[in-house]
Amino acid sequence: MAKFLCVCGSVVSTSGEIPHPYQWNLISDGDFDTSTGTVDADELYMRSTLMFRCPRSGHLWIYWSGIDNAPSLYSPVEVDEPDGPRGVVAVGE
Ligand SMILES: [Zn+2]
Repeated sequence: MAKFLCVCGSVVSTSGEIPHPYQWNLISDGDFDTSTGTVDADELYMRSTLMFRCPRSGHLWIYWSGIDNAPSLYSPVEVDEPDGPRGVVAVGE
């Protein structure tokens, strides 16, 4: 895996510069909470889920099942309403 073609036509490289300009390392709050004190960056990296954000279109490609499996694609959606999209209800405490 060194690059892939985004739906916008851009080629997104998954290797090269370190740190990678379009790569994000995701970690769930539950996994994050298992870490305490001083954290080993390499260990945290290995537990993270890789995400690439297309620099041209903003599409997100997330490798939920690891880098050896196909990623899931998430498309950006413009939201005009300042309080969030319709259908989202703020939940009080
Ligand atoms: Zn794109």
